[in-house]
Amino acid sequence: MTPEDLIRDEIRALAAYHVPDSQGMIKLDAMENPYGLPSEVEREIAAVVAAAQLNRYPDPHARGLKQRLRETMSVPEDMELLVGNGSDELIQVLAMALARPGAVLLGVEPSFVMFRLIASATGMRYVGVPLGPDFALDVPALEAAVRSHRPALTFLAYPNNPTGNLFDAQAMERIIALSPGLVVADEAYHAFAGRSFMARLSAHPNLLVMRTLSKLGLAGLRLGMLIGRPEWLREVDKVRLPYNVNVLSQRIAEVVLRHGDVLEGQAGAIRAERARLFARLSGLGGVRAFPSEANFILFRVPGADTVFAGLKARGVLIKNLNGSHPMLADCLRVTVGTPAENDTFIDALGASLSRAA
Ligand code: PMP
Repeated sequence: MTPEDLIRDEIRALAAYHVPDSQGMIKLDAMENPYGLPSEVEREIAAVVAAAQLNRYPDPHARGLKQRLRETMSVPEDMELLVGNGSDELIQVLAMALARPGAVLLGVEPSFVMFRLIASATGMRYVGVPLGPDFALDVPALEAAVRSHRPALTFLAYPNNPTGNLFDAQAMERIIALSPGLVVADEAYHAFAGRSFMARLSAHPNLLVMRTLSKLGLAGLRLGMLIGRPEWLREVDKVRLPYNVNVLSQRIAEVVLRHGDVLEGQAGAIRAERARLFARLSGLGGVRAFPSEANFILFRVPGADTVFAGLKARGVLIKNLNGSHPMLADCLRVTVGTPAENDTFIDALGASLSRAA
């Protein structure tokens, strides 16, 4: 008996989602918030952790947490909310619920790779439509793909990862209106963009909004949210495992969200740093930085592999996207860190560029 005998062909063909070792590095590869929490919030967290009933299963519906999320995210009253072990899990739950034989998951390219990976893992057929110039939506190509493939599920990241731009909202609405299936506005980077489809939910019966607490400062908790009409979420909820969000994540998130101003303040600092980092990147000869509405910046350099290795050798880990998609040739992606981290990164980049030249 070998894996070839038993493992599905489409799974064996997949490359595992690779997370590089970051020990001892300045970690600017994964869109994390670089700031910790104030000590009074940490003390409140310690108290709820100490009081948590670890012998009991968590609330399967995470009612307390959902109520808190409703308030912080201004979820329209007639919309339902589903929480997941990160928004990754919600992508998977949606795909499992919609994966009828032959059903299509539509995405744009380049975008978040999990859409394609999860389509394969759940037996959906993935269709990726290339973005146009400046990573904008290619509306005619998307409309043609929607008409010919009739996707059951479409993901549009708003802002997009790894490109960092916000798609044109009217173009998104055209795709939503034309789609015979569900369309998810994946707003993982909402805190850094300030634009949202949340208020458009009631206008579109097939629209869902997805968010996450990961980029806001709670990546370690693994908490994602899906917001949409109760009739959709009721069905999708049947696929979710009953206790998918553990008791510590539920309690800790409730505490931190009570201090929402702290996370908002940090997001503001990250946005200000993004502007400074963009200016410094653009000032380096040979670097082309792409405008970003997220907490990371995509940029192109000559000899990206060498530059990436040079940064790593200088203790700075970012993301190398060269080779992942033709439109990302010689592209690297850096997460906005603290001012000191960003300065170290820029110095290391300058040094790596002169070596690569
Ligand atoms: N959507 C997008 C567009 C992302 O970039 C990411 C993380 N890289 C996610 C969803 C998943 O985030 P999480 O599972 O941490 O909520």
